[in-house]
Amino acid sequence: MRYHDLHLDELLRFEPTGGIVRYARERALILDAVALGSLRKELIDTVGQEVARGLLTRFGFAHGWRVAESFEQDFPWDSEHEWTRAGGRLMQLLGLVVVENDEPPKEPGAPLAASYWKDSFEAEQHLLHVGRAEKPVCWTICGMASGYVSRCTREEIYFFEDKCEAAGDAVCHVVGRRREDWGPEHHNLFRYFERESMDAVLARVAEKLKETERRLRVRERQTRARPKAPPDMVVKSEAMTAVVGIAQRVAKVDATVLITGESGVGKERIARLVHDESPRAGGPFIAVNLGAITGTLLESELFGHAKGAFTGASRERIGLFEAANGSTIFLDEIGDLGPELQVKMLRVLQEREVRRVGDNRARPIDVRVVAATNKELVDAVKNGEFREDLYYRLRVVEIALPPLRDRRDDILPLARKFADVAAERAGVKGVKLTPEVADQLLRYPWPGNVRELENSIEYAVVVRSGPIITINDLPEDVRRAVAPPMSGGEIRPLDEVERDYIVAALAAKDDNRRAAAEALGIGVATLYRKLRKWGVS
Ligand SMILES: [Zn+2]
Repeated sequence: MRYHDLHLDELLRFEPTGGIVRYARERALILDAVALGSLRKELIDTVGQEVARGLLTRFGFAHGWRVAESFEQDFPWDSEHEWTRAGGRLMQLLGLVVVENDEPPKEPGAPLAASYWKDSFEAEQHLLHVGRAEKPVCWTICGMASGYVSRCTREEIYFFEDKCEAAGDAVCHVVGRRREDWGPEHHNLFRYFERESMDAVLARVAEKLKETERRLRVRERQTRARPKAPPDMVVKSEAMTAVVGIAQRVAKVDATVLITGESGVGKERIARLVHDESPRAGGPFIAVNLGAITGTLLESELFGHAKGAFTGASRERIGLFEAANGSTIFLDEIGDLGPELQVKMLRVLQEREVRRVGDNRARPIDVRVVAATNKELVDAVKNGEFREDLYYRLRVVEIALPPLRDRRDDILPLARKFADVAAERAGVKGVKLTPEVADQLLRYPWPGNVRELENSIEYAVVVRSGPIITINDLPEDVRRAVAPPMSGGEIRPLDEVERDYIVAALAAKDDNRRAAAEALGIGVATLYRKLRKWGVS
């Protein structure tokens, strides 16, 4: 077998559903280059460029050495030369670099090997995280080439770059020689391959570790102080974590609570949390929406009625306040309460007793009231629509729930939870979101808050055609949302946004201008005119 016969199809083994991936029989990981790049940057920042270079060089060397060994056993090479040459091929197949062999003239003093490395991931990541370098930086890959070839030849072979993309050269160029063939100017580079400097590394790392430990302890203390939300609640954002903390603390004291926030933010869930974590948790949590019914009917619903109190009151009935005796009542949409009932509610809160409709007897009750509103009650008080005394009675403690757009960290965890729930209801398992969907969910402002998110995901689970929710499964409003102008911290000129959007639409339609124009709802001629204006061909 010759080195160029190596093919990714035969080297890579994986299950389509993921799990263990094997590369040339060894367990392999599919790693994001940027992630590796940030680890590399972290190393540089933590232990300094010198030490980081040594660590990465030896990491690469060990990797190369190991792969050379498994390649020797796994493939029937025509010759040792083919096996050695397979190293470059391997680095290309791993996606590290694109290797072009440079055939140096066969003359005395010529290097053993020389290659051009194009698109080095390491140079790319260095430029990305650290910026332009003064000297070549493909340390890991040089280490790997050295390890691989040293194992094959059983000699000390070192590869160093004399050109590197990260240092401003057009491509990286690397040369490999025996240790003794490198001139004295390279001798100080051998130390990166040697472990002697490990002591120094360890001393420095130990110092850093102490520092990290100290920071960890601080973090731990902070984490311990963080409230723990019940398992069925999705709370990732700082804002919501704070709300849950307040609710849990308030739960322990028997004060009346007013929960404020836009429609659909989950006020009832917080009210229930206040009940569940209170000493009244053993009793029922009675929820009533004051916006749903009005007048006498609501009054009798809340306070009960005597037999014959009004037409249809054929028998005596207790109200929700009495039913909630010893426990908690949740009054949603308290801002919708009419003036007459506001007076009666105030009396109930002040006197701690109720009078059924058509009955003069006062009955003592022991009920904790949690009210909620999506209205600005302060304004309603100013306008004379809501009694000021009742407002202050209710608002002993106020918990303000932030809208979903102000706690973006909760959007995706919530969406995934709703997808699981909806999938289970639909009798399917593991409905996932594509990254595009996740992106779009974050882009949309969610005016209807958590409820709208839940409905949208339920909708997507129902209409989806495969095991994954794609962008086309989302409700139209969500699908069409464009990034809010402030998301990048700056407002871009409309013309520029339009150009980018149209170019993206063209790409999505495989550059079919007719199809793109149709999707954009503009004429083909208009599209051409715009493209000409921007000089887009
Ligand atoms: Zn390089």
